Amino acid sequence: SLYNQVQDLKGNIRVYCRVRPFLDNQSDGKSTVDHVGENGNIMIMNPHKQGKDARKIFSFNKVFGANTTQREVFVDTQPLIRSVMDGYNVCIFAYGQTGSGKTYTMSGPDITTDETWGVNYRALRDLFDISKSRTSVMTYDVSVQMIEIYNEQVRDLLVSDGSNRRYPFHKIRNNSQLNGLNIPDASLVSVNCTQDVLDLMKIGHGNRAVGATALNERSSRSHSVLTVHVQGKELISGSISRGCLHLVDLAGSERVDKSEATGERLKEAQHINRSLSALGDVISALAQKSSHIPYRNSKLTQVLQDALGGHAKTLMFVHINPELNSFGETISTLKFAERVA
Ligand code: ADP
Ligand code: MG
Repeated sequence: SLYNQVQDLKGNIRVYCRVRPFLDNQSDGKSTVDHVGENGNIMIMNPHKQGKDARKIFSFNKVFGANTTQREVFVDTQPLIRSVMDGYNVCIFAYGQTGSGKTYTMSGPDITTDETWGVNYRALRDLFDISKSRTSVMTYDVSVQMIEIYNEQVRDLLVSDGSNRRYPFHKIRNNSQLNGLNIPDASLVSVNCTQDVLDLMKIGHGNRAVGATALNERSSRSHSVLTVHVQGKELISGSISRGCLHLVDLAGSERVDKSEATGERLKEAQHINRSLSALGDVISALAQKSSHIPYRNSKLTQVLQDALGGHAKTLMFVHINPELNSFGETISTLKFAERVA
């Protein structure tokens, strides 16, 4: 089974590449993606070169072409969800330039139809389904937190009362006693079904918009982290297992032109660059089994520390926008991905 296949893989870091389709208004259809192989290879064409020199191949655990459905993407993600129920900590990331499909993969374009649901809703549905299928032997408590990291500040997205909308800053703690609850003072809300989570995510989404001039602008410059804490109790022995799932929609990875960006914009860009490279450094240090893992270089890696390394499992989705004018960003995204793969 796929589950066994994933179990058999060496190491706990996987990288999947997903190619976004052309959108309706991009009619010329010329693509930098020349070929997507079954075996996890993707061939990229440099539009500025000719012949053999123009082609470069990158290899990952899996490549999803532009026609891949949300359901198909989730099939290859599902085994990790089961791991959470078995007491593992799991991180799933969406990386890529703004507009490459990160939010589409994690949340989907529209939550009113479950056909287009992204990874996070499907993952939660699975968690509740698995929990129901085990009621004769286990009981599970599921609760969620939702935060945003913007300019290296952590903000709680699940504050419900208006008075709290100024987004108080939250302290990160790394302490084994907390069982992965690294932001203990951010709202932790108990959930019993997928609908509860849909309702919470609506609150989180609304809070994200507060104070931002344009939602898209802001959401592309902050990392959003939805954390699902799962505590299982075996009915007969009473033994407890804990796992958590972090679903991370990262800030856009595009380089901001230093000569053009000033003030706030430049500060944001510097924070994003620094935190994305800190994440890359941590994952590649883990992949190389390095003795020092530089978690402390960004808020993002501090928040996720317990779920990166050790027995934890990591899945990185890297997103490609196939348009010719995204060629430079596509190459830098694929290079980032190769470094962590
Ligand atoms: P990001 O979060 O990386 O900025 P989005 O997920 O918002 O990018 O995607 C940008 C646009 O492309 C949206 O209109 C989205 O619906 C569309 N899109 C992204 N990925 C896909 C896909 N796999 N299939 C269809 N449309 C997609
Ligand atoms: Mg987005």
